[in-house]
Amino acid sequence: MVRKIARRSRSYPKIDVHTHVALPEVLALASKVKIRGKEPGKQHWVPSASRQEHGRQSSSASATLSKPKPRLKDMDRMGVDMQVISMNLPTPSYWADGATGQQIARQCNDSIAEFVAAYPERYIGLGAVPLQDQSRTVKELEYLAKIGLKGVAIPSHVRAKDLGIPKFRNFWAKAEELNLPIYIHPRGFTHDQRLHEFFLWNSVGQPLEETLAMTSIIYEGILDDFPKLKIIIAHGGGYLPYYAGRTDKAYESRPETRKNIASRPSDYLSRFFYDTVIFDRDMLPLLVKKAGDRQIMMGTDYPRGEIEEDPIGFVRRSKDLSPLSKDRIIGLNAAKLFNI
Ligand SMILES: [Zn+2]
Repeated sequence: MVRKIARRSRSYPKIDVHTHVALPEVLALASKVKIRGKEPGKQHWVPSASRQEHGRQSSSASATLSKPKPRLKDMDRMGVDMQVISMNLPTPSYWADGATGQQIARQCNDSIAEFVAAYPERYIGLGAVPLQDQSRTVKELEYLAKIGLKGVAIPSHVRAKDLGIPKFRNFWAKAEELNLPIYIHPRGFTHDQRLHEFFLWNSVGQPLEETLAMTSIIYEGILDDFPKLKIIIAHGGGYLPYYAGRTDKAYESRPETRKNIASRPSDYLSRFFYDTVIFDRDMLPLLVKKAGDRQIMMGTDYPRGEIEEDPIGFVRRSKDLSPLSKDRIIGLNAAKLFNI
């Protein structure tokens, strides 16, 4: 596969690691799960103004969200050889019982595999797991690896519980054992009472969720205990990579922050992978400085909402990055991570 793509792109595949699909058969199953309620993360976090706009964008992107062929012309226009696809579904399905959660995850995995099979040289599929049930999660990880999916997409919390807590250790252990990269992409923010206006639940809340997911994984010792684990954080890692000085300062002055970890929080930044969906070229060299140029991969958030329309140009025009760093970000890192 590499050789075939390399001929088309001359050198290496240009890979967009952050794209979404919304597959009708999975949505139909998930719609049976009721998520309304007062608990953090359960209430309907999207205000009505955002919901209306979201609905409008979803219906205008319905073909590209649900079918493999209509996306290809956009990919060609953007210069993208391959997209990593995932479904931003799991959060609501986590409120279901384990058996229902697994049924939804299984449908998602089968549907993603079918989507990829239509153009295997253009798509890389990430699956889903019912994280509310650890034994079913372990079985589903084995299944999705067996059908050729290359990783798993999860949100930034499970029923408002942080990802690093002991309850989820079996998941991290199995993902490491199967060498499956885990892609963390939030949906809204759990405690969003002050983020309803101005789309802040998304523009501010999602980077906060990414920051909380990373800090939970770091402080609970997940990266110490599972050294081969590969975790990708959406949207350039939220706020943490750009403001880790304060967590480091606390690490030095507060013993309770050090109980599970062997190094300063910022030392773990190079253990995560990141995408380039940050819309600010000045920040990309800083992310490279903090995490390393082998940890960052091109992304767009295609096909709906806040999309980077020129993902290659975004990287190529970035100042203070070497040509090799740019090539790594545009495709070499993702090709290695997903074994393309
Ligand atoms: Zn996204």
